[in-house]
Amino acid sequence: MESVNRRTFLGTSLKAGALTIAGASWIADEALAAAPAPVQFTQVPLPYAYDALEPHIDKMTMDIHYNKHHTAYIKNVNDAIAAENITATTELEFMAGVSKLSAKARNNGGGVWNHNFFWKGMKPGSSGPSGKIADAINGSFGSLDKFKEEFSKAALGRFGSGWAWLVADNGKLKIGSTPNQDNPLMDVSELKGTPVLALDVWEHAYYLKYQNKRVDYIAAWWNVVNWDEASSKL
Ligand code: MN
Repeated sequence: MESVNRRTFLGTSLKAGALTIAGASWIADEALAAAPAPVQFTQVPLPYAYDALEPHIDKMTMDIHYNKHHTAYIKNVNDAIAAENITATTELEFMAGVSKLSAKARNNGGGVWNHNFFWKGMKPGSSGPSGKIADAINGSFGSLDKFKEEFSKAALGRFGSGWAWLVADNGKLKIGSTPNQDNPLMDVSELKGTPVLALDVWEHAYYLKYQNKRVDYIAAWWNVVNWDEASSKL
């Protein structure tokens, strides 16, 4: 009787043990399957040839900017995401919590996002704004010329490296700039809103053709603005 009891007890214990182990492993598998993978940044295909924006933006600058600068940001941010176990699952979540990330993640994550946005915001043979974007610009700044003047001033006035932005915020358009590779989606940014238009004013964006004359680069850039793309952000 005693041995039967002992066997029964052992059997029950083993079964309970097996259940516990099986249960734990089932929960771990579920947690693993449910945890979405961290965001991986990728480079958008350049929507035009390297020389397509000539003479306003030269071929060599486009080539180096896209294939050297931009690709370096992509490698570096994805390295940082892996090394630092960053858990953000989307680019927007990454930007919204960037204050908690390393300088490497912030600078390179911003670098990838900003350039993807910048490439798509340009096109050869640009015509002026029309439709929704034209109405929004007139409504917020009075006229296209006034808008260009204020945006150019922000781009010229950004000391050192950074970006000029047109953003939509609560139904209004705003102009501003950010330092380094920061952008208006970042929680650390003073300028907040949905990006509509961006201009890279790092020296690497214009120095080969314009040297120190950032003002000439800005003036030339208006000839390649993709207004339809900007309009699609509203
Ligand atoms: Mn750049």
